[in-house]
Amino acid sequence: MADDYYKTLGVSKDATDQDIKKAYRKMALKYHPDKHKGDKDAENKFKEVNEAYEVLSDKQKRQQYDQFGSAGFGGGGGAGFQGGFNANGFDFSQFSGAGGFADIFETFFGGGGAPRQKSNGPQQGRDIEFRMELSFEDAAFGTEKELSISKPVSCDHCHATGAEPGSKSITCKTCNGTGEVRTVRQTILGQMATAAPCGECHGEGRIHEKKCSVCHGATRIKRDERVKVKIPAGVDNDSTIRLSGKGEAGAFGGPNGDLYVHIRVAASKKFVRNGYDVHTEEHIHLLQAVLGDDIEVETLQEKLTLKIPAGTQSGRVFRLKERGIEKLRGSGKGDHFVKIIVDIPSKISRKERDLYIELAGEAKLSTKGKKGFLKGLL
Ligand SMILES: [Zn+2]
Ligand SMILES: [Zn+2]
Repeated sequence: MADDYYKTLGVSKDATDQDIKKAYRKMALKYHPDKHKGDKDAENKFKEVNEAYEVLSDKQKRQQYDQFGSAGFGGGGGAGFQGGFNANGFDFSQFSGAGGFADIFETFFGGGGAPRQKSNGPQQGRDIEFRMELSFEDAAFGTEKELSISKPVSCDHCHATGAEPGSKSITCKTCNGTGEVRTVRQTILGQMATAAPCGECHGEGRIHEKKCSVCHGATRIKRDERVKVKIPAGVDNDSTIRLSGKGEAGAFGGPNGDLYVHIRVAASKKFVRNGYDVHTEEHIHLLQAVLGDDIEVETLQEKLTLKIPAGTQSGRVFRLKERGIEKLRGSGKGDHFVKIIVDIPSKISRKERDLYIELAGEAKLSTKGKKGFLKGLL
């Protein structure tokens, strides 16, 4: 028996998984028993190749082999392989560790043969994606919305069994109650037998004498379903809420899919959001900026009084701590930032004009080196 798996496959010790897979395909084809009927040497060689592949294609086993050699695999010599051959060729079901092996042959003959009929067993329901637009306030404070979604749901009439209530169950004639259908197909390597869940009974081995009159045996029907979605306070634009099991219903006992709600938050006329912070602008009169004043500021939660100190410059930003949006995880809120814009009066009365001129004189407005009418007036 093979004492060096790498040599058997003709690869080096640092071969990648891909190298090993490729080398294995080549060797398996070369020594396949259907090409060497009655040739004991070829049969042994084929066994060695498979044994080597079984170990080297498995990360854990390969590591173990590199460390301890084939002794680590309980007797070596085609261990998981007894009875692998039969008169008709090759029966994968008797092949321990068939997973990797069968997979390779599936890719070999990809598409040509019968598809794997997994779809006949329990089927998981598909996920559903839903887009939802929220107002600025709903996103900030959280809310609950009810969606109406048209989707496959479990059939109530038969309680998702697919059988008309009261009808008897009988042994499936297609698979004779085994729940499995075996197909033998011709390949270039000879006949190959594969087993798949029975399409008639979905692997149950029994069928219902009468199918459900509502879902016709499909176990689910399409219907509008109302789904409540809790929107947590602080949810932001482009976030997604996952509702486990609220997608399409599974069929034949399979689990439900999930519902993904993608959130779009509408802009607000008043507030600009940045993460959990809120930004607004407040316009004040030149005189309020010069003399100082108390102004009213609308925050998300309530109206507050903001003290504008005398001499406030246009563009100054005031921070209202924890007056922003509630944070999704953890406690606290973001802040509210108020940017002050000082408005210069664009239309003034004659009297105001005189007062401004007087003010200019009082302020000893520097007009040095400047030309202009103000110079003449002061
Ligand atoms: Zn069946
Ligand atoms: Zn039904």
